[in-house]
Amino acid sequence: MTQPAVIRRDPPALSPLRTALELAAAGLPVLPLRRGKVPFGNCRTCAKDPRTGRAACGGRPNMKDAGPCQCPGPCHAWAAATTDPSVIASPVWASAWREAVTVAYHPGGAGLTVVDLDDTAAVTWARQTLPATRIVPTTRGEHWIYQGAMRSVNAVRDGIDIKSTMAYARWLGPGTGTTAALPDVVRALAVKEPPTVRSAPQSIAMPAWAAGERVCPHRTPTYLDRGIAMAEQRITEARSAIHATVYRAFLAVLSTHGRCGCLTEAHIARLFTAAQAKGESARHCTDAWTNARTTLGL
Ligand SMILES: [Zn+2]
Ligand SMILES: [Zn+2]
Repeated sequence: MTQPAVIRRDPPALSPLRTALELAAAGLPVLPLRRGKVPFGNCRTCAKDPRTGRAACGGRPNMKDAGPCQCPGPCHAWAAATTDPSVIASPVWASAWREAVTVAYHPGGAGLTVVDLDDTAAVTWARQTLPATRIVPTTRGEHWIYQGAMRSVNAVRDGIDIKSTMAYARWLGPGTGTTAALPDVVRALAVKEPPTVRSAPQSIAMPAWAAGERVCPHRTPTYLDRGIAMAEQRITEARSAIHATVYRAFLAVLSTHGRCGCLTEAHIARLFTAAQAKGESARHCTDAWTNARTTLGL
């Protein structure tokens, strides 16, 4: 009896539908992406009303403009994402899967946040600034995935988007590393500066540090110095939205080093100097610093 020749080959890549079903079983709400790696357009019932620019169906109940849409199709992009295998494998979704080039998921729906780093500069920034977590390589950059959902905001910095609630991210594999809890420094990226809190200059709360002498209890002095240098650089390189950039830079420094007591007046002076070189008044620096501390509960 002859045995058929055993041909060794790599296991075939899963089809988008198979991948989607596996991810859904693991708790990730999924949706198909068509050519161009974008969601499928809405069906005729859900299509945009050209007069209002809004979906004619009113939108799905989980959208910002909550509506009654029960459309069985993969309409409304992230809002259609589901973990329900009977929806994912339904006949209406089947035609989308046949044309799909890849799978996306709704990070916020799984309680996750994706920090989408578009290029090398953004990745470098993340490596110097963000706590280690699960990392998925992308075409030109990386997805850093944290446990915890937040508001999604595009372009929080050059080449960096936050994708969590009301957004989708491409599924590019499980990546490597252990998913860490969403840190304050990422939450702070999405925070717009609150209305200025006017305060007397002497009310800037300074932590009780021993100037310059203490070693940061959880980070090295080099780490602190690098954080300050990066904040300075970020302020110096800002071409627009100086106000907001200064505030975000302050937030980033304070969210990492605001509690450890090792920020000195010299560090703060460096940040204020960088901001003033970009035309910010001393008063605004003080206010922004106070607001950032208030936002972080310091
Ligand atoms: Zn529809
Ligand atoms: Zn609809």
